[in-house]
This record gives sequence, C-alpha cells and structure tokens, in this order.
Amino acid sequence: MSAGGSHTLLVKNIHTLVTMDAADREIRNGAILVRDRAIEQIGRSEDLPGTADEVLDLRGRAIVLPGLVNTHHHFYQTLTRAVPGAQSSELFAWLRNLYPIWAHLDARGVYVSAQLTAAELLLSGCTTSSDHLYLFPNDCTLDEEIRAVGDIGMRFHASRGSMSVGESDGGLPPDSLVEDEAVILADSRRLIESYHDNSRHAMTRIALAPCSPFSVSRDLMRESAALARSYSGVRLHTHLAENELDLRYSRETFGMSPGEYAESLGWLGPDVWHAHCVHLDSAAIQRFAVTGTGVAHCPTSNMRLGSGIAPIRTLLEHGVQVGLGVDGAASNDGSNLIREARAACLVARVGARDAAAMTPRQALSLATRGGAAVLGRDDIGHLAVGMSADFIVLNVDRPHFAGAGWDLVAAVILCQPQAVDYSFVNGRRVIDAGRLVTVDLDALVERTNAAAETLMNRGT
Ligand SMILES: [Zn+2]
Repeated sequence: MSAGGSHTLLVKNIHTLVTMDAADREIRNGAILVRDRAIEQIGRSEDLPGTADEVLDLRGRAIVLPGLVNTHHHFYQTLTRAVPGAQSSELFAWLRNLYPIWAHLDARGVYVSAQLTAAELLLSGCTTSSDHLYLFPNDCTLDEEIRAVGDIGMRFHASRGSMSVGESDGGLPPDSLVEDEAVILADSRRLIESYHDNSRHAMTRIALAPCSPFSVSRDLMRESAALARSYSGVRLHTHLAENELDLRYSRETFGMSPGEYAESLGWLGPDVWHAHCVHLDSAAIQRFAVTGTGVAHCPTSNMRLGSGIAPIRTLLEHGVQVGLGVDGAASNDGSNLIREARAACLVARVGARDAAAMTPRQALSLATRGGAAVLGRDDIGHLAVGMSADFIVLNVDRPHFAGAGWDLVAAVILCQPQAVDYSFVNGRRVIDAGRLVTVDLDALVERTNAAAETLMNRGT
C-alpha cells in the first residue's frame, strides 16, 4: 500500500462509523483508509482495500467519531483546581481569589499544566483544542505551551491573551499582572510570525485574545483586531457577557451592552469567536448571526460559577456557529470534553424546560462540526475524503454501553463514557488501547502536582 514513501492506515470493521458529515451519515461495518495525515477513502469495510501498512481491526466492537474540538480553555488553571476560597464564588470574586496565586506562575508551570490538560482532553476524545493564556508573569511565554502541546501530539490553536487595565485604572486584575500594550502587540506579532500555520491540516495556529472587557482597553481590542486581520487565518477571541456583573461593568464603563461594545470595536465577524455569551440580548444574537460571529459555549463553567444558562437553542435557530469549551480548569474543574457535550445537552433542556431542546446527536455536532466552524477549520470536525485523519474509537463492550446497543451514538452522550480507547490526530495514533502513548502519564501527574504545590506555596 505504500507509494512514494507515504504511510497508509486502515481502520476496519467499525460497528458504527459516525461521520458527522452534512448528510449525518452513520455507516454500519464502516472503515477508514488514511494516507499520511488525511482520509483517502471512507465507507463500508467490504468496499475498501483489505489491508494497509498499519491496520486496526475493531471486529465490529467499537464506534468511531470525528475527534472532538474544544474551543475555550485556560490550561494553566489546572494548577489551581478546587482551590479553597474559590470553590463557591461568582466570576469576579473567583478571579480576585486566584489572581494573587496566578501571579507566581512560571514557564515550567505553563509547560506542565498544558501537557496535563492536553492529556485529559485527548483521553476524553478531544483532538483539537484552543487555549487562552492571558497572563505572562515571571518567565511565562506562549512558546512553552505550544511546545508542550506539540510534544503530546494534539492539534492546537494557541491564543495569545492579554490584560492591560489593572485595578488602578478601573480594571479587575492587580496591576502586577497586566502588561504594557506595546509589549503585548509586539509579542503577538512575534508569535504569529513564528508559529501560525494557515495551511490545510495545520497542527498549530495562533489567535489574538485580549482577555475581557474588564481587563483590557478599547485601544488594545482595536489594535489586536487590526494586527490579526493583517494575516490570513489569525482569528480573534475573548470573553463576552459571562455573568450579571460583567453586564453591569459594560453598561457602567462603556454605556453599552456587551454585544454593542464588541461591535463598536470591530469584534463581530466570521473571524471572531466569543466565549460564554450567557447574557447576550436578542439584538446581539441577530448581529452575531448576520456577521458570522462564533460562540464558545462553556456549560459546566457557567454552572460552576452560577453565571446562568447561555441561549444556545436561540443562537442555533438564528444560524450562529456554536462550539463547546470546557473552559478554565479552575472553573470546571476538569477537562473532559465528552462530559462537556453531555452538560450542553442537559443544560439546554433545563433552560428550555423541554426534554427535546437538544438531542444527543446535536450535542455531538456542537462538539465536532460546531467547534471546527468556530475555529475556522474546514479540514476537521467531520469524517470525509480529504479531511484530516482526526478520529476517536470507543469500545462498545465497556460497562457504560451495556444495555444501550440499539443506539450507541446517543449512548456516547447519555451513558457517560469517561475515555476513548484509541485516538488518531493527523493520522498519528496518540491513544492506543486506552493508553496515551506520547507521554508518561504517571510522571506527568507527579510533575503537575509538584508545580501546583510550588505555585500555591509562593502565592499564599
Ligand atoms: Zn474563560
């Protein structure tokens, strides 16, 4: 099967191959043939070649889905999960409790926390994630995170976040954690020039992401947008309309709703995605739809911080692109993307008081196609010829699938599988028989605990 030095991979006898393509095809006894990093053929096992350089025969006992896509996170917060004093606070108080600890973050902490978080994401079915790192104390750089995620083998959209308005200027973060705007913009340009790859099947892209209305200036929002738009495929990301205090800050400081504020700065458009959007009014929803602006829906974090229920059904009815985000590990406090899809499904039903408000397959669509659209990718999010070879395998003989044999696809959301059995990213086997092969997980857990302890000792 090899030709011209290329490598072929055949995954065959898939019980149900869930393509998530435009026709929502679910193929019984399916198979996928991959050449290098892209899908070359897809269909029924009997219609594809019987062998390849590398073969995974699932013997009819596993389902395959596109790799899940995570659209909002703060990996470094894995070092400050379940912190006493921040377990039961709303967003602003939660941030005020944690900023003094985060002020002691260092490059080693960034690297280790990024790897641990990427490991959790990969094990729970994620193959592409974005991350939003918005504070750079001590020797922290986004480079550390990019290196960490590259080493573990996950597709990565790294957002160069920023904070420039400290307490003394009316912002929320302490002055010690904000950066000079000229420094932020220069570093943003450096990162784009160094790492941003706009080609098909790219493993690394850069986005620019001033943190929130209450931590950056309007100038920085405008300048960041102009800088991003001077390159192809560099997207814009921030937090918007997360809770009631966030709304009040926008009205009192800018005299505008969050939607109006974003639009006034050029922050609506097909190259922008906003996290949370719990409190978007109907005018903003219309503008998001018209402008092609995306939303990262973070249901667990919104529940954890008591922020509210985002109007996802209304956004989808208006045609807004919505992806899922597990959000910061300190406001979730995990990085399990399958569970996040389940949370999206359930909270939509609670919000609408309607058990049909979101089906399990719609939740899977948000986690795959929706996330890909929000990140501006047309090469991931569904399985078809020419797409990147990013897919996950779940063994149906696990206890959580028992008794659900008539609809194993719905069972992925409803029956709470915790981890995947295999994961392929860009054609590379990253999880093999339930084991992450690119990193020693036990050693990584140890290193993460040590880094968390060091951070906490410095910060308290
Ligand atoms: Zn966030």
